Amino acid sequence: MLEVEHFSKAYEGTYAVRDLSLVLPAGAILGLVGPNGAGKTTTLRSIAGILPVKEGAIRIAGRDLAREESAAKKSLYWIPDDPRPFDTLTVAEHLEFTAALYEVPNWHAEAIELLERFELVEKRDAVGGELSRGMRQKLAFCCAWLAHPKLVLMDEPLTGLDPRGIRSAKDSIKALAARGTAVILSSHLLELIEELASRLLILARGQKVFEGTLADARATLSAGEAKSLEEIFMAVTEHRQDGAPPPAP
Ligand code: ATP
Repeated sequence: MLEVEHFSKAYEGTYAVRDLSLVLPAGAILGLVGPNGAGKTTTLRSIAGILPVKEGAIRIAGRDLAREESAAKKSLYWIPDDPRPFDTLTVAEHLEFTAALYEVPNWHAEAIELLERFELVEKRDAVGGELSRGMRQKLAFCCAWLAHPKLVLMDEPLTGLDPRGIRSAKDSIKALAARGTAVILSSHLLELIEELASRLLILARGQKVFEGTLADARATLSAGEAKSLEEIFMAVTEHRQDGAPPPAP
């Protein structure tokens, strides 16, 4: 569903992401983790088509993001860390707009079910500018779900959500994957990644340090010991924060 080939991105001559390759199949949830400044947001924003891809290639559902931009973007939905809905559109109009943009037929019943699931029914006529942080996040989840994309990208998707919202968001992420959507979930909440992700990508200083299942991570990075993701994360990123060379394999 997603293919990233030798992708690099530099800001003013300094690489933020270097030579990243990755394949994500349908229905997989990839946990993207790494220290501050590792290149996670740059990677997500590039896959979302917000930053232009100049080095390497990114394909979404077989469509090249640089050459077939609108077809590729139609297969993805991006939930940034602080979603900003349109100030003057209501919650209901956002759903209508999303359904029109993604050409989703017969979307009304699903939209109502989503508003109920995310406890936004009372806010259906509120405009984007009136929504709280958590409500904006919930609306972004509703739109992502309604769009029926093949790939959803999420940057810290639980920020601002109340406990019931967190439960709904987690259930929705699992349900998205169960219906065949590939999901990239970037978060510093390692327990969340451990709970939801089927695969793991660890970036540090713009480079891929590990990609595979958590079981692979335990086998290769902690000599098969049943370590938590937090312990594995600490061990693999320890030498990569301050520019020191990585430990020898
Ligand atoms: P965090 O966990 O702190 O959100 P991140 O892993 O998402 O970090 P990025 O935001 O992708 O990291 O940043 C990667 C590197 O690129 C950092 O060194 C950062 O300073 C640099 N960078 C990011 N955006 C820009 C920009 N617009 N201009 C210049 N450098 C940038």
